[in-house]
Amino acid sequence: MRVFKAEFVKSAIKPEHYPKLNLPEIAFAGRSNVGKSSLINSLLGRKGLVKVSKSPGKTQALNFFTVNDSLSFVDMPGYGFASVPEKLRQSWGHMVENYLKSRAELQAVIALLDCRRIPNDDDLNLLGWLSEFGIPAIPVFTKIDKIPKTHRLRELKEPKKVLAEVFGGTAPHTVMYSALSGEGKKELWHAISKAAGGGKRSLPPDDVEG
Ligand code: GDP
Repeated sequence: MRVFKAEFVKSAIKPEHYPKLNLPEIAFAGRSNVGKSSLINSLLGRKGLVKVSKSPGKTQALNFFTVNDSLSFVDMPGYGFASVPEKLRQSWGHMVENYLKSRAELQAVIALLDCRRIPNDDDLNLLGWLSEFGIPAIPVFTKIDKIPKTHRLRELKEPKKVLAEVFGGTAPHTVMYSALSGEGKKELWHAISKAAGGGKRSLPPDDVEG
């Protein structure tokens, strides 16, 4: 995918503030420090479009971007800061759940997992929500350059086993990505393009809380 234009549109928390883009949308989610900003910047071939955030609780909004005027990307705030107070945790959950439930344009969520960590409850909760709302998940192991190719089968065995539990017993295909080397970039773009062709989702009938 040749990215000739990538633009930040706006940050929003509540559904009434989401931009009306009418483009197929792909969201990116993962634990803080999973490599989400680096991955989005690497996909877009831009160095600083998505700011690498260091302080917990600062980026508690959904950040909307457009790509080539034909696709929209949403950077969801990282979850799982150990030090985050319960109140912030709840507002994160509320915002994310509202977004997942109400955004008909959303075609898939790229679920980022650090290849050297076992998926934890926060990761599994997010995957559980996606399945509950019928949103396709595209799981990605980030920072894959940290595991030499010959060790991957062994080192990814346990994370895959844990993932399998939320995917009905079979580990899903997981893209291996390195923002450093560019490994996985072609494959992830392919998965994004495929997911983006899905058309609008039909939403559940229940109301969305503001
Ligand atoms: P975010 O908090 O999820 O947005 O994560 P960042 O993109 O800020 O990355 C967190 C840390 O991981 C930074 O120190 C990055 O340099 C590092 N990092 C991100 N992606 C990669 C990668 O593909 N390979 C390696 N080795 N390090 C990475």
